[in-house]
This record gives sequence, C-alpha cells and structure tokens, in this order.
Amino acid sequence: MDYEERPWRKFPWKPRITVSMKLPVAILLVLFALIPMVLCTQTVIVSMSQAQVDDRMARVQSEIRILSDKMMRVNYLSGEGRAAMEGEIQTAADVYDGRIVVVNQDFRIIEDTFHIAENRYHIAETVIRCFQGETSNRYNKEKRYFAVTAPIYASSEDKTVVGALIMTASTEPLLSVTESVADKTLLLQCIVMLVAVVAAVAASVFLTKPLRELRVKLNHVAQGALDTDIITDAYQETRDISQEVELTISKLREVDQSRQEFVSNVSHELKTPITSIRVLADSLMGMGDAPVELYREFMEDISVEIDRESNIINDLLTLVKMDKSEAELNVSQVNINALVEQILKRLRPIANKQKVELVFESIREVTADVDEVKISLAISNLVENAVKYNREDGWVRVTLDADHKFFYVKVTDSGIGILEDVQDRIFDRFYRVDKARSRETGGSGLGLAITRSVVLMHKGAIKLSSKEGEGSTFTLRIPLNYVA
Ligand code: ADP
Repeated sequence: MDYEERPWRKFPWKPRITVSMKLPVAILLVLFALIPMVLCTQTVIVSMSQAQVDDRMARVQSEIRILSDKMMRVNYLSGEGRAAMEGEIQTAADVYDGRIVVVNQDFRIIEDTFHIAENRYHIAETVIRCFQGETSNRYNKEKRYFAVTAPIYASSEDKTVVGALIMTASTEPLLSVTESVADKTLLLQCIVMLVAVVAAVAASVFLTKPLRELRVKLNHVAQGALDTDIITDAYQETRDISQEVELTISKLREVDQSRQEFVSNVSHELKTPITSIRVLADSLMGMGDAPVELYREFMEDISVEIDRESNIINDLLTLVKMDKSEAELNVSQVNINALVEQILKRLRPIANKQKVELVFESIREVTADVDEVKISLAISNLVENAVKYNREDGWVRVTLDADHKFFYVKVTDSGIGILEDVQDRIFDRFYRVDKARSRETGGSGLGLAITRSVVLMHKGAIKLSSKEGEGSTFTLRIPLNYVA
C-alpha cells in the first residue's frame, strides 16, 4: 500500500515523523507538572508585588493627608510654620525613600526635599486637578514609582485649596525584594522541572511497558511462533489490540492450513492421472508383442487420463485467475435467457447420452450486467453436475426468474442428492462426495469452487437445497446491475 493511501494518515494528529510513544507521554507529564506550578508561582509573585505597592501607597496617602492637615493648621503656605515643619517633611520623605514637593497657588514649588526644583513652576494635570480639590494616586509601572497628590486647604472651615502636596516614591526597593524571591523560585522551578522530567521519563517507560511486551510477543509471532499467547491485558487498549491481532493470527493460521491442504490436494490430484498413465504405459511395455487392439485400448485409456490432467490444470488456472482480482470482470449487458439456452444447447448431447432430460423454464426476459464468459461457466458447471450426478431417465430443470434487483437461476435435478452433513463442504476445492463416481465422470472437484467464485465476484449468492436420493437444487442470485 502506498504511504499516501494509508487511511490513518487522514487523522489530523498523526505526526509527520514516527516517534516513540514515550516522548508525547513524557512531554504531557512534564507539562501537567510544570504549567500549574509556573502559573501558581507567577500569580503569587505578581500579586505579592502588587500588594506591597498598594500597601506602600496607602501608607503614603495617609502620611500625606496628615502632613497636608498639619500644613493647613500651621498656615504653612503663608510661610508661618514652614521652618517648624521642614524637618517633619524631610523625615516623611526619607521614611518612604521618596520626594515631597509643595506647590503654591501660583504653581510654584515652594518646598522640595531634593532641593533641586524650588521656585520652579510645576504645572501638571494632577496638580491642576488637586487645586480643584481632587486627591490623586498614580502608579507608573514601567518607571517603577508612584505619585500621591493631596490638596492643602486654607483652613478647616475654608475649603479653598491653597497648595498641593505631592509625594513621589520609587517602588524599586519593594520590587527588588519580590524579584529576588522570583529568582529563588525560578531556581526552585528549574529543580522541580528536572525532577519532573526524570519522573516523566520514568513514568512513560513504565506506562508503555505493556506495549513493549506486546511488541516482543508479536515479534515472536512474526518469527513464526503462531501459537504464542499474545493477550496483554495490562490496559483495556492493549487487551483489545492483542485480541484483534490474535483473531487475525488465527485467521492466518486457517489460511495457512487451507493453503497447505490445497497444495497437497493439487499435488495429489495432478499425480493421480500421471500414476495411471505410468501404470498403463509400464504394462504396455511389459507385454512385448501385444495385439494392436490392446495397444489401442491402452492408448485410449492413456488419452482419457491426459484429458483429466488437462481438465484439472485448466480448472486450476481458471480458479487462480479469479482469485487474483475482481477487476478482471469483463462486464457487459447480457441477455441471460439467450445465454442459458446456449448452455443447454451445448450440454444437451451429453444429457441425451446419459438419458437425462434438460428443461428450460424462463419466467421472464432478463438482461443483466455480467461477465458473460464467467457467468456462462458458473451456470454450465451447475447444469453439468446436475446431469453427471443424475440417474438414468432423470431430468434437469433450469429456471430463470428476476425481480427489480436480482436475477435467479435455479438448477434442479432428479439426481442422487447430497448428504446434509457435506452440503457446506461441496464448494471447497477438490471436495467430492463420491470420489470414485466423480473421477469416472472426469470431474476435477473444482467446478463448484469456480461457480462460487464467479458468483461472489458478481456480488451475488449461491444456495443449495438437497436431499440424498431425491435430487438437488442450486440457486444463483446475481444483481442485475453490477456495482464495482
Ligand atoms: P466435480 O468435478 O467432482 O463434479 P464439483 O466441484 O463440481 O466437482 O462438485 C463437487 C462435488 O459435489 C461433486 O464431486 C459431487 O460429489 C457433488 N455434487 C455437485 N453437484 C451435484 C449434484 N447436482 N448432485 C449431487 N452431487 C453433486
């Protein structure tokens, strides 16, 4: 079979290259172990750093609120309590490792704990909003800092915003803690991954062990040990596969046996006429001056044996050809009535010789798509047998009928009939009920095997009903239209 034609190639998951099953099993196991672990640690680290930032911002907000409150109370912006608060502002900035900037109503910076922007203007969106009474918290993730802006009111009664207090602080120290934790977990993850890989490889080796066992057993079978017990029931799948394979092997065994039987039958059948010829020739040679009539008689016997040998060989060739492939059917539209009539016309002299009456009963006109030569051979074999295995003054009736799908050829005879026990076997190659009688009539024992082959090639069926001593009826059922 061509690789491209293989039906299992249609499965989307069929890998392009063949790999050991251990590989996907190991990969899956590693992924199942690692994905949840990585997800968990990542989630923990991200939420941990977020929680730290949130906590620091909340604390800065409350600090800023306290400071702005105090500034309001000491009237910081008018310059009164500025000196008193300077230390406190610096301390607050240092505690949070940040920078505090105070902006007055003119957007001018009047205090900067870094002492680099005093007297400069600070006009930013957050500051403008702050003068409208809004408190804002901004966190810049990329630059890793946050800014909290709070208004400074004129007094507790007068809610006019007279200044803005801005505190910016870097989150770098906080994040570097979580980063070092992340580094440590990465190391842990690598160790876990290593352990997972080793465990997954071990598990995949263990899980695929029954498959390897099955392979070893199948290997024994392939070496010729057809009796090896291959049932591997470690998994339901291996049990099913091994059972299926065992079934195939037992069928193969049967085929092998029948092939051996066939070969020995063929040898035996071919040897029999040759042995007879040898015996006849030897006795002729041993006779010395035998009369010409005796020579002629012996030569006629030899000729009969040669005919038999040739019959067997022809029948064998026909069977072999049919076994090859059904593509060899040469299908055409055939008038079956005319075909049967022709067969009967050809066989009538033989039937007359045996004093057997041949009758054709055509129930309707039938035209079908068949291989004319092969179907003719199949029907001829049945009619010939019906004549051969008949009694003197007997009859053979061939009936042709059809329905919308099939045509039926029924060959009934008044002959010797067939024992019920052997009815299944008479279609086997070389099987004969009465070897002596069959030989007498020149039968090869292949006629019914050929007929059955032809019928099966046409996707039809053959049925036998017979009673010993009363006669037999063979019925062929062939489809009117051949579907390849
Ligand atoms: P053969 O060449 O011996 O006739 P077949 O395959 O045609 O071989 O038939 C197999 C055997 O079936 C025959 O030997 C015969 O014993 C039996 N048989 C076939 N047809 C009939 C029949 N119409 N009546 C009785 N026996 C038959």
